[in-house]
Amino acid sequence: MAADTTPEQVLEQIGAEVRECTACGLCAQRTKAVPGEGALKSGIMFIGEGPGFHEDRQGRPFVGPAGKLLEELLAAVGLHRNQVFITNVVKCRPPGNRDPQPDEIAACADYLERQIAAIDPRIIVTLGRFSMARFFPGAKISAIHGEPKYADGRAYVPFYHPAAGLRATSVKQSLFEDIQALPAIAKRLKELHAAGYFDRQEAGADADNTAAANEPGEDQLSLF
Ligand code: SF4
Repeated sequence: MAADTTPEQVLEQIGAEVRECTACGLCAQRTKAVPGEGALKSGIMFIGEGPGFHEDRQGRPFVGPAGKLLEELLAAVGLHRNQVFITNVVKCRPPGNRDPQPDEIAACADYLERQIAAIDPRIIVTLGRFSMARFFPGAKISAIHGEPKYADGRAYVPFYHPAAGLRATSVKQSLFEDIQALPAIAKRLKELHAAGYFDRQEAGADADNTAAANEPGEDQLSLF
């Protein structure tokens, strides 16, 4: 990013490119591409899988039933969707809401990378298997949902996809439990920064210190 270019300008540029993009086959049947939207400076980014029917019509992420559940989840920790940035791994709707294919995810990856670089979020919440795989390769979502990974000066937190929460009450309950932990994760992140954890991690000194980093802080402090 050029020194005189703001993150807002970078996000606008990415959005313009996404709306014109023909880099994978998903461009053929889209109504509108869905680059993502929200606050850039909140420090919290939610990454889902791909647009669905309603998102494809409106060109906005998480505006259907799954989006309504996401808004309820955010409200549970005092957040509104306008306070976080919301996007997806692929920016165009897979036909019939099928899973995005590896070649489509790969073709779209640079847009997500540039969005992350521009926003530089403190917390990245992955929603569903496909965005989890980007940051937790090889992991199973049933095994790691809600467990933060502290790396790169950030907390990466895998959640189930809200659409899965609409299909299963137990998953919906897990989603609410996992998001309730976000304030404590934000608190722990601040403590790790203050303690120089990420500087040592970068130098390789804390390569085996994941368990220590994942110990929760003693008291709760809301970031929100
Ligand atoms: S999904 Fe991504 S790579 Fe594929 S056409 Fe849409 S914006 Fe381009």
